[in-house]
Formats: sequence, structure tokens, C-alpha cells
Amino acid sequence: MSYKYSMQDKKNSILPEKTAPAGTSAKMRWLVAGSTIPMLGIVAAIATAPQSTLDTTPQQTIVEEVAVAPVNTSSDNGVFWRSERLQRGDSIARLLTRLQIRDAMAEQFLLQGDAARSLLQLKAGQSIAALTSDSGKLINLRFNDSNGDEVIVERKGEQLQLTRQAVAIHARPVMKSGVIQSSLFAATDKADLPDSVAVQLIEIFGSQIDFHRDLQRGDKFTVVYEQLNAPGEPLRTGKILAAEFINEGKTYRAVYFAAQQGKGGYYTADGKSLKQAFLRSPLEFSRISSGFTVARFHPVLQQWRAHKGVDYAAPIGTKIRATADGIVEFVGKQNGYGNVVTIRHQGKYSTLYGHMSGFASGVRKGSRIAQGDVIGYVGMTGWATGPHLHYEFKVDNVQQDPLKVALPNNVPLDSRNMAAFRSVSNDMMHRLNLLRNTNLARFD
Ligand SMILES: [Zn+2]
Repeated sequence: MSYKYSMQDKKNSILPEKTAPAGTSAKMRWLVAGSTIPMLGIVAAIATAPQSTLDTTPQQTIVEEVAVAPVNTSSDNGVFWRSERLQRGDSIARLLTRLQIRDAMAEQFLLQGDAARSLLQLKAGQSIAALTSDSGKLINLRFNDSNGDEVIVERKGEQLQLTRQAVAIHARPVMKSGVIQSSLFAATDKADLPDSVAVQLIEIFGSQIDFHRDLQRGDKFTVVYEQLNAPGEPLRTGKILAAEFINEGKTYRAVYFAAQQGKGGYYTADGKSLKQAFLRSPLEFSRISSGFTVARFHPVLQQWRAHKGVDYAAPIGTKIRATADGIVEFVGKQNGYGNVVTIRHQGKYSTLYGHMSGFASGVRKGSRIAQGDVIGYVGMTGWATGPHLHYEFKVDNVQQDPLKVALPNNVPLDSRNMAAFRSVSNDMMHRLNLLRNTNLARFD
């Protein structure tokens, strides 16, 4: 069953969804949206905690009907405001019809140029408000674009004019949990997590968990991420603030923190950077490459001992990434390996990637490669019975099992940042615990 936290986007509805539990209202600050987009007498109000405190009270989106006026008949000197939500598969023309705009000049204006570009970027569920005369002549049209600007099309005499103005964006933390039954993406879909959050989750834990080999049925995740909103309107998904991944019973946790004079990154609960010298998997893990069946969780693997490498069964064309920064040492064909790339990394480490169908452009002997760069694609060149990547991890030119080699630990935050980090981390850990504890029953 999909767990739905009470902080759901109100993307499909402007009707009341939930009410605040007793005791939380004192912490809420009410923002009334309605000043920029008159919404037919229905005023959307968003309850939110002040950003700076990020208190642990579950936060809720509450939409209330404040002033009740009959929809689509609110009249003011013979003009009508209407609000419509974009539907899946909508066209601009259909939207204008629903907004009851009967104005050839306005249609022409909105179907081309900047107005059309901005309208076409909108996603299903976003709202557009229009003010028309009783004969359907467009006087004013407003919506929020994906950059968080309010786009305003206004009649100036016999002309229409498009302007933009910045709207206040606020980030609302959203918490969601899921359990993996068949695949990671099936679980994130079920938890109603946007793909951009799923992809971040994979990146954040990419040096701890090999998502191609380690995932198990019953693995659990909990994510706290930002939903960026303009008044009354969800805009887009932001970054993950904290996450937990329980893989084979082992708990991994990550907290986002921006150190002084540094860009933000992810840390363990005790302040060690999660960015490590090597990624656990050389294959990109995406919705497309991950597959949806249980079988894909257990790719046919030969024992490491048998041939001093790790085999990753994957469809031809799956992206292969460099597991660490380094310099390309060899690109080309070698008997059994087929198309192969070797990369020399810092110190005594090197890696080899075999059986590729092709190399990524720009990968040449001597090229500088960053961790995660795509170097080629899965194939079955050389001695391969099926499409797979053969990956070797070498220390002092001797193959080692990458899963068993102890890599240097990452440096913790310095003492100056540690105090600030601890307060962020404690808060986030508290949230993760809270969500986990309230949901354990649902997982069974
Ligand atoms: Zn192999």
C-alpha cells in the first residue's frame, strides 16, 4: 500500500484535504495567496513553519475555502475571473476554451512567442487564471512559470502585453517512505516520489550501496525533500534534505549540509562526507537501466574469484561510468576484453571496464575523467556470452574484490562547521525517526 504523508501536493485539487492535528496550529504561519491570483473567491491558504526553524511538527498543506462565491460567475463590473488547471494532454487552444476566452487577438498572442513558450512549459495540475469581459475578451491572464516567475498577460488598449514578476518561493519539506517489493522505481512510484528525488537518492548513496547488486526485497527508504512552491501553487521539486536507506537490514543515513565557504553536500549523521573516492557501481542506475522485475535484482554474476572481476549483466547500451577521478590509460580492443577502457586513479588504484559496445566521445588515452563521467556503453564484445560489463578494480596492478577493499575514510567536517552541522543533523534524524516510527506498522 502506498503511504501518503499528510503533506501531499494538492496538485489535483483545491478542495480541503486534511486538517491540522491538534496542537500544531500554534506553530503555523498562515500565508494567504489570493492577492496575486484572484481564485474565484476561493482563497488558497498554506500553512507553513518558518523556514529557519524547520521544526519537527509534520507540516501540512491546508487549502481552505474562505469566501464562498459561486464558481465561474463571480462578476465585477461585467468581467469574470476564471481559474483552470492544466490537464494531461491539454493544448493551449483547449485551455483557452475552458477559460472561456473568445478573443481572436488573444488567441493569436497566446499561441506564439514568449507566451506560448511559457504556457507549454507548464505541467499538468498547474493553474492559470484569466479575467475576461462578459463577451470573452481577454483582459488579464496570469500563471506561475517553472522558474517561479509570475507571467502576466495584460490588455493595454488594443494591445496585449506580457510581463513577468518574481513571486516569493518557499521551500516546504516533504517526507515520504517506501518499501522495495519489485524494483526501486516501482517503490518510489508507489510512494509518489518524483523521479528527480529517486535519482538524487541513488546518487547520495552511490558510494555506499551498489544499486545494481545490493537491492533486496524489503529494503526501505525514507526521504525528506524540498517542495518549492509559489503562493498557492507547487512549482517544482528541490533537493533532498535528509534520507535513510535500509539495505539488507543495514541503515544508511544522509543529511544535506552547506559548510561555510563550501558548497553543500551530503554527510553521515556524524558529519563525514558521503562523497567518496569510488562509486560502488560502474553502471548508471536509472529508471531505464534498472528494469522492473525481481530478476533484475539478481543479475547472473560469476564469482569474483573465478576471473578477478565483477560482471554486471545489463542491456546493451547501458551507460558505464568511471567509478573515480582519473586519467584514461587505455582505450581500444584487447582480445578477451573486447572494447576496453582502463583508468589510472590517484595513488595505487586503477579500474578496467570490458566488453563495451562503444566508447563515449572524448574518451582517449590521457583524457582526464571525473567520477561518474560516462566512458562507454555495455556490450558483448570480446569473450562474452551475453551483454554485460566486466569490471576490475586493481590495487598496485593486482585485481582485488572492490566490495572487500578498505578504502581511505573520508575526512569529517572541521570543528567550526561541526556545531552547525549537529543542529541540522539532529533535527533531520529526529524527523527520520518520527516518520519511520509512525510507519513501521504500515510496512508489515
Ligand atoms: Zn567478467
